[in-house]
Amino acid sequence: MKTFKLLLLLQVLFFSTSVSLAQPLKPRPDAFPPVPESKDAKAVQMATTIAEMAGWDRYPTYDTYVAMMNRWVEQYPSLCRLDTIGTSVNGRLILCMVIRGGNAGNNPEFFYSSTMHGDEVTGYAMMLHLIDTLLSGYGSNQQYTDLINSVDIYINPLSNPDGTYFLGDNTVRGSIRYNARFVDLNRNYPDPFGTEPLDEEQPENTAMIAYFTNHSFLLSANLHGGSEVMNYPWDSFSSSQRPHPDREWWIDVCKRFVDTCRMYSSNCFRDVNSEGYIAGGDWYVIPNGRQDYVNYYHNCREMTMEISSVKTLSSDKLPSYWRFLQNSLVNYIAEIIAIAPVEPVAIHDADPQTIGQNCHITLYPNPAGNRVFLSESLPMESVLYNAFGAEVLRLPARQKVIDITSLPAGLYLLRCGDYSTKLFKR
Ligand SMILES: [Zn+2]
Repeated sequence: MKTFKLLLLLQVLFFSTSVSLAQPLKPRPDAFPPVPESKDAKAVQMATTIAEMAGWDRYPTYDTYVAMMNRWVEQYPSLCRLDTIGTSVNGRLILCMVIRGGNAGNNPEFFYSSTMHGDEVTGYAMMLHLIDTLLSGYGSNQQYTDLINSVDIYINPLSNPDGTYFLGDNTVRGSIRYNARFVDLNRNYPDPFGTEPLDEEQPENTAMIAYFTNHSFLLSANLHGGSEVMNYPWDSFSSSQRPHPDREWWIDVCKRFVDTCRMYSSNCFRDVNSEGYIAGGDWYVIPNGRQDYVNYYHNCREMTMEISSVKTLSSDKLPSYWRFLQNSLVNYIAEIIAIAPVEPVAIHDADPQTIGQNCHITLYPNPAGNRVFLSESLPMESVLYNAFGAEVLRLPARQKVIDITSLPAGLYLLRCGDYSTKLFKR
């Protein structure tokens, strides 16, 4: 019996050794054990009122956070509402701001979620700033207006409030990675590839799973800190073992995100490699993460954005992070347009007062190759916008064919007076 056990032990040791020699693990700062206070924690300033958040250079206390979310709903009742995804172990709220404009019910659903590791608070602050920017820009900023009108945007700034406010509601100093039961929420999701989580499913994740189940998110991102790198699926495998079927698309999306950030800060996203993006498993394989769960079980393309080298970023650095991340965070939402199902297309029922005559124009073919034909000529000068809201073509009145040879593949919006329609280029 003893000999048998010894043989078994030797076998296990031999097997383990050969595996670790074949696949040396690279350091992944996100996976490091947390430190009680980051080196910057002394510079963490808290806002105890909404007014103190005006400069976006502080973290809100828990009560200020909840008050901000409610204030936006009071300020912009026709543009947003507040969802409660669930509650944490200690009863704190897991909130989600739902921002939607004119076409409610028919738009694709997008989801941002941050700080499931409670001490990685940069994303928490960025998401609050993003909510404010989108809502306050509606009607004055064309890109934000188009985005809110064509995408239902869900933003959950804080998915692990007990970890973030570990020392109490009034400070994020002393925040921890884990939830109140010291479970790592990003190792606690059902794993599509068969690994069982070490711990019982936590209430924060049970609530999040129900939220994903009750929605049809097409695109999402989960914000973390501790490094600066865009981490696309899979996390459970290296790309040589099992590449993600949308790998090329992910790389394009990551490049656009990182390139735009580097227009404002050339040194950002260089912690892991010069590209600033990586397949998660090529960095470090983890089981039971949220990213792979969401991609596999919910047909939603989710990636992990590691957005700051320091987990608990000094609050006075928040504005500079916002400066280089802002446009990328907004543009990432617009990436959903290219993967959303194409609706039937027609410009119709235009108000005669607006354009002088009834307008029933159909575009064909759609999706189109190099030329698009119009069933009737344009009654007025019209504009073709790309998915980011930038004007790409101005079309004179009476035009009946649009040459789109020079445009990259993707989704476009043709605007004719007050009316618009989508055009997809193959
Ligand atoms: Zn993390």
